[in-house]
Amino acid sequence: MKVRENLEVIQNQIADACNKAGRNPEEIKIIAVTKYVSPERAQEAIDAGVIHLGENRDEGLLDKIGQIEDRPVWHFIGTLQTRKVKNIIEHVTYIHSLDRLSLAKEINKRSDSKVRCLIQVNASGEESKHGLKPDDVIGFVQELKQFSNIEISGLMTMAPLTEDEQLIRDCFRTMKRLQADIQSRKLEFAPCNELSMGMSNDFQIAVEEGSTMVRIGTALVGNESEVH
Ligand SMILES: *Cc1c(COP(=O)(O)O)cnc(C)c1O
Repeated sequence: MKVRENLEVIQNQIADACNKAGRNPEEIKIIAVTKYVSPERAQEAIDAGVIHLGENRDEGLLDKIGQIEDRPVWHFIGTLQTRKVKNIIEHVTYIHSLDRLSLAKEINKRSDSKVRCLIQVNASGEESKHGLKPDDVIGFVQELKQFSNIEISGLMTMAPLTEDEQLIRDCFRTMKRLQADIQSRKLEFAPCNELSMGMSNDFQIAVEEGSTMVRIGTALVGNESEVH
């Protein structure tokens, strides 16, 4: 399928979810996750009108940047090792995987301007997932105040991989509550306007529950690493 066709389907699904929830589709950024596809396919997404691209590894990011002529808004969405920060910092607008103070310290040190960071939250409680426990998020936010180059733009999560829609929904609702808590504190360094949640199989639920950034790989650009 052409990216353009997939994008249209996804935009319609987002519009439906917005209708249900009384939201405006313009509140939602579609991030094309290009980690499983070639630079050519990523370029096709840009040509189809996608502005935001996401990668989860520094190699993948740098490879795409080297081969794509356009300059999309890059989102780093994967687990970030502290020693890799210097490789990606000047290329990305958003980092979705802030999950520890040592990483915040390194981002703060390696940038000379504010970096938009999202705190990764393990809202499902699954052992295998990265991110802070919901109960630890507020304390973590307060500790980030010391870093002048870090802005807490929002929160990010991955929902559990399950058929149980209610579990997925509960996870997203936990995130929305946490966001509201942070916003109510009116911290200058933590506007927390973004909720990065929703992937190929659950983005409609995420939009119904308040997502502002959906990270879509397979359903939008496909997965070239899968055996067909
Ligand atoms: C791979 C990935 C996605 C996209 O997953 P799909 O199911 O292919 O849409 C989204 N978020 C993160 C953090 C990822 O690693």
